[in-house]
Amino acid sequence: MSKAIVVLNAGSSSIKFSLFLEKGESLELDVRGQVAGLYTAARFEAKAPNGKILSEKAWPKGASLNHEEAIDHIIGYLRSEVAHHTLVGIGHRVVHGGRSYQQPVRVDAMVLKVLETFIPLAPLHQPHNLAPIRRALERVPDLPQVACFDTAFHRTQPAVAQMFALPAELHEAGVLRYGFHGLSYEYISSVLPGIDPVAAKGRCIVLHLGNGASMCAMLQGRSMASTMGFTAVEGLPMGTRSGSLDPGVILYLLSQRGMSPAAIEDLIYNKSGLLGVSSISSDMRTLLTSDDPRAKLAIDLFIYRIRCALGALTAALGGLDAIIFTAGIGENAPAIRSRVCRDTQWLGVVIDEKANTTGQGRISAQESKVAVWVIPTNEELMIARHTQALLK
Ligand code: ADP
Repeated sequence: MSKAIVVLNAGSSSIKFSLFLEKGESLELDVRGQVAGLYTAARFEAKAPNGKILSEKAWPKGASLNHEEAIDHIIGYLRSEVAHHTLVGIGHRVVHGGRSYQQPVRVDAMVLKVLETFIPLAPLHQPHNLAPIRRALERVPDLPQVACFDTAFHRTQPAVAQMFALPAELHEAGVLRYGFHGLSYEYISSVLPGIDPVAAKGRCIVLHLGNGASMCAMLQGRSMASTMGFTAVEGLPMGTRSGSLDPGVILYLLSQRGMSPAAIEDLIYNKSGLLGVSSISSDMRTLLTSDDPRAKLAIDLFIYRIRCALGALTAALGGLDAIIFTAGIGENAPAIRSRVCRDTQWLGVVIDEKANTTGQGRISAQESKVAVWVIPTNEELMIARHTQALLK
């Protein structure tokens, strides 16, 4: 019999879960799965780490699930799955911890109330992240729950990196650069000493390139700057998000185009980025295999903005020892890595194209002044580790 930790990652239309078992000091993935298609045509599946399907179920359209019902189904499944183990806690991915939470926190009704006050800061994500916590507090009140925040890792940034040049009153009210993808960066920071001890003690830029994309400058494993700010729409162009815009564009859309705030939100979160520029797809795989010049333009813009951000973050660090690629595109797209590295030759980066094709471990040439790595991220394991540590 082992101790088991559940990790939940709830989005607007899906809830992903992972079950980890304690094996001595380490944690081993036992099951992962999700309920997808919430509010439309829900589907549940649970898989073993080798991909074998352990359980699945589909709900007919019209009889579909909301977040609470999906959580009930997942808890029911996990209770039968862990009947021979001891479930010791649930770790949740929560996008926003505001300024208050610089570390994961055990959640009770009081803490949940505080986390609800951050909903205006992340209205598209925070309510979904909190729904499973609320439901589990009702259904399994004795089971400890831990909230792990995407913002927390960035609270080590110098004050200037967290500020907008706005009146102080707005900063005091919480209008500041929080940074996101913190659990991914923290995971990379946690494994880096075992992979590249020099980089772990030095200056690194991590490129988290997935549907959401951001970059983080780290000094001695701690966040010093990030491309994402007040919201997860700042910085690089992403699958469907615009990335940084001149604020004047928003004012123009409001005052000259008569767009509502909701329509602008939809534009910059769902219709821009790779999808908006290409008019083809938000999926990098599709764009990379397309002959359409609009697909090429979208990729060119993505690369160009990464190049500019690499320069800016290198300046923030005062130099660079390592570049690390992670997440869907970072881990799986050699063509993108190759172009980013070629654009970074001025920093002394020399890529080993053969190593880049395999995409594992070090992909820079021996003579490269800056080491370049591909390191798969593991946000779920990071949450499970935090949950384990906090409950001890
Ligand atoms: P999310 O932010 O949703 O977690 P992921 O980290 O899974 O996203 O990344 C999704 C992105 O990774 C998509 O743009 C997808 O096209 C891209 N991707 C995944 N595999 C490959 C691949 N083999 N080549 C190029 N891009 C890939």
